[in-house]
Amino acid sequence: AEEQAAQARKMEAIGQLTSGVAHDFNNLLAAVMGSVELAERRVTDERVLRLLHNAHQAAQRGAKLTEQLLAFSRRQRLEARPTDLNGVLSGMADLLHRTLGGTIAVSTRLAAELWPAMADPNRIELAVLNLAVNARDAMPRGGELRIETANVGPGDPRPEALPPGEFVRISVADTGEGMTPEVQARLFEPFFTTKPQGKGTGLGLAQVYGTAKQLRGEVAVESRLDRGTTVTLYLPRATEPAAQAGGAPDEAAAAPG
Ligand code: ADP
Repeated sequence: AEEQAAQARKMEAIGQLTSGVAHDFNNLLAAVMGSVELAERRVTDERVLRLLHNAHQAAQRGAKLTEQLLAFSRRQRLEARPTDLNGVLSGMADLLHRTLGGTIAVSTRLAAELWPAMADPNRIELAVLNLAVNARDAMPRGGELRIETANVGPGDPRPEALPPGEFVRISVADTGEGMTPEVQARLFEPFFTTKPQGKGTGLGLAQVYGTAKQLRGEVAVESRLDRGTTVTLYLPRATEPAAQAGGAPDEAAAAPG
């Protein structure tokens, strides 16, 4: 299951990367081609003209490539709909326990009367799985993982980066190694990892970040070295009710080894 998730995570991160990069890249290529065309018209030196022609052709090949990349990333589109996040998390209980192993105690606090969030359940599941894998890796000698949901209204504490409005949050807190400020500054970068080769892809938090941003939400990270890390995903409140009800409010479960 984890290998599958890693693969899905990779594809998704690549999809998100390509859609963003390909757009910008296409614009840059258009500028390159425009300039090269102008130069081609003014230059008389045959050798220079041939070089410009090569540049023009390369840029055209690049444009074709970005077109293919965009077509690929369109297939990775996310589908936002009113979602019961408690239900999503409840449905992940088995997967989380299997992912975390026996030495980590998992506790869940799902808010009663949680608002529906505008989200894509599959992406949220993947994001939470990514956060759980990171938490596990930060607690090689065991520890606690706490998953929490809550409504975030106008009066509730919220990170500065969060736009005004009502949100629903999922917090994933661990009692692991924590991070240095240097790592914290880079953790959303795609392919940034401190894990040994073969273990980390550096795409986990990039996926979480990309998902949050695409859904007009936010991610906040609080971390203290040797104390632990809390990652909180904020998603906009949906105005419509979620299609499917689910999730046991205020359920607490512990699975010590
Ligand atoms: P990966 O897990 O493949 O390394 P991520 O993007 O998920 O990629 O994480 C990037 C880096 O951020 C990790 O390599 C690790 O150094 C740090 N990190 C992420 N989550 C945690 C956490 N819960 N505790 C400590 N460090 C973390």
